[in-house]
This record gives sequence, C-alpha cells and structure tokens, in this order.
Amino acid sequence: MRLDIVTIFPDYFAPLDVSLLGKARRAGLLDVHVHDLREWTHDRHRTVDDTPYGGGPGMVMKPEPWGEALDTVAPPDAPRTPRLLVPTPSGRPFTQAMAAELAAEEWLVFACGRYEGIDTRVVEDARTRMRVDEVSLGDFVLAGGEVAVLVIVEAVGRLLPGVLGNADSVADDSFAPGAMESLIEGPVYTKPPMWRERAVPDVLLSGNHGAIARWRRDEALRRTARNRPELLVRLDPALLDKHDRRV
Ligand code: SAM
Repeated sequence: MRLDIVTIFPDYFAPLDVSLLGKARRAGLLDVHVHDLREWTHDRHRTVDDTPYGGGPGMVMKPEPWGEALDTVAPPDAPRTPRLLVPTPSGRPFTQAMAAELAAEEWLVFACGRYEGIDTRVVEDARTRMRVDEVSLGDFVLAGGEVAVLVIVEAVGRLLPGVLGNADSVADDSFAPGAMESLIEGPVYTKPPMWRERAVPDVLLSGNHGAIARWRRDEALRRTARNRPELLVRLDPALLDKHDRRV
C-alpha cells in the first residue's frame, strides 16, 4: 500500500519507522512518502495560513499550497487516483470498519490540517477528481491532523496482510467483523497464575477450549454493557447466540 502524507510538520511522522509499521515499511508492505506542504509556497516566509473570512480568532490554511500539493502528489491526469483522507473533528467518526475498508485500498493520501483547519474549497476541489473522506477521531479537538493520521495509519497498517505476526489476533479484537462486531474485548491474563493475591480465572487454566470461548464472550458482553452500552443497542440480534441472552 502506498501512503502520501502532506503536513507542515514532517518530523511528526518519525514513529512510522518504529515497531510494527517500521517493520512493514522495511518489508515493502507499506510505501510511505511524507511531504512538507511548505514546498508548495512561493513567498519568502513560506506562508500556509491567512486570516479567516468573516472574522474571528485563529488562522485558516490557504487553498493555493494545498491545491498545488495535491495536484503534484496525485496528478489529475494520472491513470490511478488515490483516496484522500482529511482528518477533522467535523468528519465521520473513524471506526474499525472504516480501517478495514481503507486496508483494501492501494493508495491513500492524507492532508493534515492545522490552525482552524483547511479552506473548505480544497476538499470541494479534490472531490471532483478523487474519493475524499473527512474523518474524525472523536469528539475532541487536537492541535493538528498529524496525530490523527498516525492513528489511522496504524489502525489500517496492522490489518494489511503480512504485517501482524499472527493474523488470527485481528479476528478476536474489539470491533472485529463477525462475532466481535459491536463488542469490546474482555480482560486478558498471562503468567504467573497468581500475582499479588490475584488469581487468573480457573476457566482460563482449564484447557477446555469451549468453556474458554464462552467465558471470553460473556466477559466481552459484560464489559461492553458496562463501558459502551450504546454499542450493545446497535448490536445486530443475528450476531447473538442463545447463551448470550443470559449474560
Ligand atoms: N476549528 C476546528 C473545529 O473546531 O472543528 C478545529 C481545528 S484543529 C485545532 C486543527 C486540525 O487538527 C484540524 O484541521 C484537523 O486536521 C485536526 N483535528 C483536530 N481534532 C481532530 C479530531 N477529533 N479528529 C481528526 N482530526 C482532528
């Protein structure tokens, strides 16, 4: 998968050299290109922002450098077009389902906003020639899109074939399509069996795989009900088995 990231802070993306994603890059599974938006400015101060029309505090990112940057990274006459991701608190909520959908793409471009965001005409113009998603990480405001892009790239990258050591672990994750859809994972344990007078539940030491699977599902249902009741309301009844209802 190819990723192009346009930002005024290229250094923010150093973590993409580390851990799982760093390994994926070295293995050629992720081809990441980080671009400095200021390359597409033409004044001495390399200006990327200006005051907002209509007044008010803060600054808005100018459309001209963004237009030139996107035209260069994804030329309008190129045979392939990428999907453009624009992180913004006013976008659609980013979910595991969206991460899975993006993991099937060949090419993603990310536009990192700063200040009060990017002049709206940039997204309108990009939509005339590529698919554009405005995505929100949640109901809070970050200082810039860089952290949001790191989050999205990590969520998408770990779903690419060959990136995780054990591909099965994705199927048991919180929100995974299938049995875990709309559920969050229950508690997990490792050795030793007793730590600070806290025991690992007997069932996990029993070797009874059916009972362990049932316990894990019960705990996922309980934890979802406790921490994320709104997910349970959305749960498709077809995904519940007859034992789930007694939890
Ligand atoms: N004025 C904007 C608003 O109220 O919606 C907030 C702009 S924020 C200070 C600057 C940039 O941070 C945004 O353009 C976006 O790229 C990023 N950002 C902030 N919060 C975000 C969130 N919840 N999800 C995704 N990106 C976010």
